[in-house]
Amino acid sequence: MSTLVNILREKCPKCGKGQVFTKKGNILLLQMPKMNTNCTHCHHKFEKEPGYFFGSMFVSYALIVAEMIVFFLLASQVVDSFVTILVLMGIITVLGSPFNFRLSRMLWMYLLDGPNKKI
Ligand SMILES: [Zn+2]
Repeated sequence: MSTLVNILREKCPKCGKGQVFTKKGNILLLQMPKMNTNCTHCHHKFEKEPGYFFGSMFVSYALIVAEMIVFFLLASQVVDSFVTILVLMGIITVLGSPFNFRLSRMLWMYLLDGPNKKI
């Protein structure tokens, strides 16, 4: 349970105390989230090698597909127009991109480099 809380609070996968992101990002201001290079508490290096977060794009894709399926099922009960639902899905995808970016990287780090990994 604490691992899930640490992922959602964007804490370091090793110590669970340092923050991973310095900026949360705001798509309306055209700002993407900014990561720390190392943990502020235990100095654990987040990006092990160049391209380390390439796989998090697939996690992000899975997240957005799951979110859009849920949104489509809920919106189709309220909105009659399919085009309106598609436009709303596009808007939500863009507005939620900083959140999905951060969550996918956190899931990727905890998957590959979580608190129980020894390497
Ligand atoms: Zn740490």
